[in-house]
Amino acid sequence: MTNSIGLYLHVPFCKQKCAYCDFFSGRAGEADYDNYTRRLKEKIIYWGAQTTETVSSVYIGGGTPSVLGTKRLTELLSAVFAAFSVLPHAEVTVEINPESGKELEFSALKAIGMNRISVGLQSANAKELKTLGRIHTPHDAAITLQSAQRAGIENTSLDLMMGIPYQTTDSLRRSIDFCASCGVTHISSYILKIEEGTPFAAAKEKLPLPNDDEQAQLYLFAVDYLEKRGFRQYEISNFSVPGRESRHNTLYWQCGEYLGLGPSAYSFYHGRRFHYERDFQAFYENRITDDGAGGDEEEFIMLALRLKSGLDFAQYETKFQKHLSPAVMREIKRFESAGYMNTDGRRAWLTPRGCLVSNSIIAEILYHH
Ligand code: SF4
Repeated sequence: MTNSIGLYLHVPFCKQKCAYCDFFSGRAGEADYDNYTRRLKEKIIYWGAQTTETVSSVYIGGGTPSVLGTKRLTELLSAVFAAFSVLPHAEVTVEINPESGKELEFSALKAIGMNRISVGLQSANAKELKTLGRIHTPHDAAITLQSAQRAGIENTSLDLMMGIPYQTTDSLRRSIDFCASCGVTHISSYILKIEEGTPFAAAKEKLPLPNDDEQAQLYLFAVDYLEKRGFRQYEISNFSVPGRESRHNTLYWQCGEYLGLGPSAYSFYHGRRFHYERDFQAFYENRITDDGAGGDEEEFIMLALRLKSGLDFAQYETKFQKHLSPAVMREIKRFESAGYMNTDGRRAWLTPRGCLVSNSIIAEILYHH
C-alpha cells in the first residue's frame, strides 16, 4: 500500500461544448454550480474520513473548473485541506479555461493552496480555435496567465492540440512560440482524436483533417521544436522545463494510487480500480463501479512505457520479484533495431517515432509477456 495518494476532483461543467469533446461535461447555471459544489464537498469529507494516507497532489479538472469562480473553487480546496492530510509541498493544480480564467482572483486561490494552473489553449490560431468550437482567443489565455503569474503562480501549463483541421507545421510552430512567449513551464500536446458521438465524428468526412502521415509529421515536428524552445519531453504528450513535470499525472503513469471524485472520475485505491459512472445521481448516492484489481505487471509495463524515463528493469524486478521475460527483452531489442525504442541496458523507452505508434508497440510487448 502506498502512503501517499493523489486526489482528483471532476467539475463536469463547460460554458459551451467543444465540437471534439466527449468528456462528461455540459452547460449549466449558477444554481447547478452551487448544488454540485455542495455535493462534491460532502464527498470530499466522506472520503477524507475513509483515508489515512497523505495526499501528495490535488488536481481539479473537468470540464472547466474555472466556471465555478473563485469562491466555489476556494470552498472546494478548503474542504480538501480540512478533510485530507495534504503534504506541505503538495502540487495543487486547477484546470482553467482562458476565457473564464480572466475573472478568477488568483491571489485568493494561491492563498488557499493552489500552486499550479493548466490552461486549455489548444491553438494560438483563430481559425483553428473556431473549428474546434472553442470560445476563447489566444489573447484571453495570455491575460489569464499574466494575472496568475502576477499573483505568484509560477507553475503554469498550456494544452495544445495537434492534427486540428487546417493546421500546418507552420501554424503549430506559431502556437508553440505563443506558449513559450507566455512564460509557461509546461505544455501538454495531444493529437486530436475523433470520438464517437461528437459533432466532429458526424462531420468527419467533410473536415479537412490531416491524414496519418501529416499527423505524424506534426507530432515529430512538435517534439523537436518544443525541445528547441526548452520543453523536454517526459511523456508521450507532455513536455516541461526541467523540474516542472506534472507530479499528479506522473503518479498515474508510475502506477501510484489516487482517488477520483465526481461523475466519470476514476480511482486506484488499495489495489482496486473503480469509478463513478457518468451520472450525477450515481455520484451523489456514492454508487461506485468496481473495475477489479490494479497495478499488475502488465499495467506497470504499459504505463512505464509512456514515460521518457521508461521501463526500469531493476524497478520491475524489485516490485514483482522476477526478471522481465526473455520474450519481452527480445521484443524490446526488435523495436530498438527498428528505431522505435531505445535501451541503455537498465531501462527501455520509446523514441518519438515509437511514441506515435505506442499503442501497437505496448500491445506487442504485452502479448509476449
Ligand atoms: S472546454 Fe474542455 S471539457 Fe469542456 S467541452 Fe471543451 S474540451 Fe471538453
